[in-house]
Amino acid sequence: MISDLLNKTKTTISFEVSPPKTEDEFQAMFGKLDTFATLHPDFISCTYGAGGSKAGKTVEIASYIQHKLQIDAIAHMTCVGFKQADLQKNCELLEKEGIRYVMALRGDRPQYMSDEQFNGREFFYASDMIRYLKADTSLQIAGACYPEKHYEAESFESDLLHLKEKVEAGASFLITQLFFDNELFYRFKERAAACGITVPICAGIMPITSAKQIGTSVTLSGSSVPKSMADLIANYGENPDEMRKAGIDFAIRQILDLKEHGVDGIHIYTMNRPKTTAQIVAQITQ
Ligand code: FAD
Repeated sequence: MISDLLNKTKTTISFEVSPPKTEDEFQAMFGKLDTFATLHPDFISCTYGAGGSKAGKTVEIASYIQHKLQIDAIAHMTCVGFKQADLQKNCELLEKEGIRYVMALRGDRPQYMSDEQFNGREFFYASDMIRYLKADTSLQIAGACYPEKHYEAESFESDLLHLKEKVEAGASFLITQLFFDNELFYRFKERAAACGITVPICAGIMPITSAKQIGTSVTLSGSSVPKSMADLIANYGENPDEMRKAGIDFAIRQILDLKEHGVDGIHIYTMNRPKTTAQIVAQITQ
């Protein structure tokens, strides 16, 4: 069980991958997964495309991770992407494929979706989906959390209370949004514990290897960019090789500090890049 592993003294190392967009990239993904496996992660999670068209791809990748690589796989699912009937079918497929873990998320509104469609979703919040999964399946459930609060939340406190609802509904461990300032994570963990959230929390770490990632992935995540990261971009952003090295080094330092502080797990947002991930893993598992 992943949650048992996370409860041990050792910090788990896990990866997030995503189904690529084109068929060629999708086929190439299996070779990348083979390389990820050589890094011996404790588990690998596979995201679910915002629009929902890639549900089958998420299951296919998760199934490869689980069966071919013999590594525990987590398949992501979103309230935005699934009506109840489709969710049930997807869960049956997951259980048939021997996948025991899901990440239950609300999802964001895809560009093509109207407000009416978005607000008319059958599962409104992640906790609604988690309650359903807990009652109707034997899947183990993970949830998302936000050290800097979710971008829509009225306040940090209200976000924590809703996070607590998510855990009470059945999320047995949590994975954070990416962050660059560990102090924010330590404060978040303290406040979560004070509010009665005691399940393991994996820290989500994204290595920034090019300046443009700040304008894409990071902006979308709603996470803040501290001065240390802004300085790094200012110093190395124009030089791709130096930027890559500095970004990897930043992630390694961040992870080593988290490990020293006894974090339950490190979840690397790999962006499907085995080479970068390998360079980080080599420095954090000695
Ligand atoms: P929720 O937990 O439902 O929370 C959403 C907002 O609603 C928060 O502001 C919360 O405070 C508020 N809220 C919750 N419950 C209530 C309530 N009862 N009443 C009022 N307000 C409430 N997106 C994808 O599309 N695919 C993925 O694969 C994916 N993977 C992710 C993995 C991780 C680790 C993380 C951190 C995010 C991921 N996302 C993914 C993005 C995620 O879908 C978005 O961040 C989304 O905006 C929120 O999802 P959630 O599950 O945290 O939502």
